[in-house]
Amino acid sequence: MTDLIIGIDLGTTNSAVGVVESGFPILLADEDGKRITPSVVWLGEAGGIEIGRNALRRRTLEPGRVITSIKRLMGRRFDEAPDFCAPILPTAGGGVSVLGRSPEEISSEILKELKRIAEWRLDTVIGKAVITVPAYFNDAQRAATKHAGELAGLEVVRILNEPTAAALAYGLDKLAEKSRVAVYDFGGGTFDLSILEMQGGVFQVLATHGDTRLGGDDLDTALVAMVAAKADVDLAAMSDSARVRLIEEAERVKRLLSSEDKAVFRAPFYDGSRSLEMEIERTEFEALLRPWIERTLRHCRQAMADAALTPADLNAIVLVGGSTRVPAVRKAVAELFGREPDLTQHPDEAIALGAAIQAGVMNGSLRQMVLLDVTPLSLGIETFGGLMNVLIPRNTTIPCKAGEMFTNAAAGQQSMRIRVLQGEREMARDNWELGNFEVGFEPLAKGQARVGVQFRIDENGILEVLARDVSTGIDKVVTIRNSAVDVDDAAVEAMVSESVEHAFDDMAERIFTEARLKAEELLPAVEVVLSQGLASDEERVEIEAASDAVRSALSSGSANPLKAAVQRLDHATEGLAARLVERAMEEALERRLAGD
Ligand code: AMP
Repeated sequence: MTDLIIGIDLGTTNSAVGVVESGFPILLADEDGKRITPSVVWLGEAGGIEIGRNALRRRTLEPGRVITSIKRLMGRRFDEAPDFCAPILPTAGGGVSVLGRSPEEISSEILKELKRIAEWRLDTVIGKAVITVPAYFNDAQRAATKHAGELAGLEVVRILNEPTAAALAYGLDKLAEKSRVAVYDFGGGTFDLSILEMQGGVFQVLATHGDTRLGGDDLDTALVAMVAAKADVDLAAMSDSARVRLIEEAERVKRLLSSEDKAVFRAPFYDGSRSLEMEIERTEFEALLRPWIERTLRHCRQAMADAALTPADLNAIVLVGGSTRVPAVRKAVAELFGREPDLTQHPDEAIALGAAIQAGVMNGSLRQMVLLDVTPLSLGIETFGGLMNVLIPRNTTIPCKAGEMFTNAAAGQQSMRIRVLQGEREMARDNWELGNFEVGFEPLAKGQARVGVQFRIDENGILEVLARDVSTGIDKVVTIRNSAVDVDDAAVEAMVSESVEHAFDDMAERIFTEARLKAEELLPAVEVVLSQGLASDEERVEIEAASDAVRSALSSGSANPLKAAVQRLDHATEGLAARLVERAMEEALERRLAGD
């Protein structure tokens, strides 16, 4: 067993596990590559257990044996237990049991699964964890969470408040003393707003307000109710499994409407015989969810009043929880607080990342680490003429992505080498090469092949370069590990000062190269045009003089004269080019008329 400590977000709807690896907090994905595990447990009649997506799959078949939102029952006595998805019974000690098990036992199944994922990913036995809980959890709920960890074979070295974890993930622990942060957490089943203040290097919770029965699930249910009302379907008369089908479809549509203006709600044979299909507009959905958003805002105002603060007293607003992906939610929060929320982290991953950071600090693996959240140097690729084409400029906050379209330099070319570069210099050769690969495409005329290149840096600083041949849609993806952000300070400084030192020479070389590429394109084209006899004598004289000027500037190797000569040649051929286009159009028209 290692001393490694894992960080766990044990959420109402979803859970995740992370760790600090090579100085970076990362989430650990399961065998399917998923970093988020639904907090769902299936307890089979014969003793079988399934967790996460496997458990969710059984929901339509055996709704009564699939337990969701067990977190709501943690540390609760029977007389204070909320409504639940399955029947609950009192235990002798006044606690609750679900299908014969305690909430701690059921939660421990989720924790065991997360522990298993971590052990499988890291190839080592794990014995310690940091687990997060809502700021409003009382002692009994915290103790129950710790107990669940122990049942899963984990020593819980710290119970961490979720808003504090989120603030860590956003790097807000670097803020000055007395800085205040609001964490707006809108998940699947719960909402809370917490206000934190940095005191003595750690966050204190100044106020927290929320509702343990207000979340994304409500938005799904509201959408189902709307669709059913429009289609004149009686929800009350429907079987549980048919209702689950509709809710699952509503969730899918809701997610889609976070990025699209409209989406189609489609539930074929949802009860075995009937089907539903309906287009939903985002504006319509936003109007529907307005009352829920309003409720969250009331809690925000209350928390601010409790802490005796106004929005101007806050230094940052961060969003946590999958439901904050809804654009209308983001807009409402920005309006209420009078400032844009920080969106640099994935809202559904921030808490687990923060838990991993806390675990890393306790491990000692994060002591020396500065969390880098910007690209220290520009990233780009080499283009024609050996130039550096920057896709992500230096000092861009990560995660980030950027892309551009490139084309072939020569006719019939069948592939392009993508050289991934890092640095501040204008010429590719003066920058550092992080990697290179070849992307193939169909042979086409010069400038006709189209290759889209996209750079994406995730929150762990991993650069993924994707190149797509637009005509075939075939992608090539290359992953470049931390080197995109993890650069030695001294090396960054050297690169930046070098670029300043060479700024004039570099710029002159770029101008010369760009003008040379243009000249190499123009000169042969001009020859062809002149041979067609369309130019007036006056034009011919000027074009020939301009062409000579370009040739002599090319051989002299100086940038500005070449640029000026190319501009002159471009200008001299303008009238001629327009006439050529006109003639081509006339010919095309004549051909068409003759054909008719
Ligand atoms: P969490 O408890 O933080 O995992 O949040 C889960 C909730 O976020 C669920 O209700 C999801 O349906 C919701 N959610 C996740 N992604 C999106 C999205 N893109 N748009 C709207 N809601 C989302």
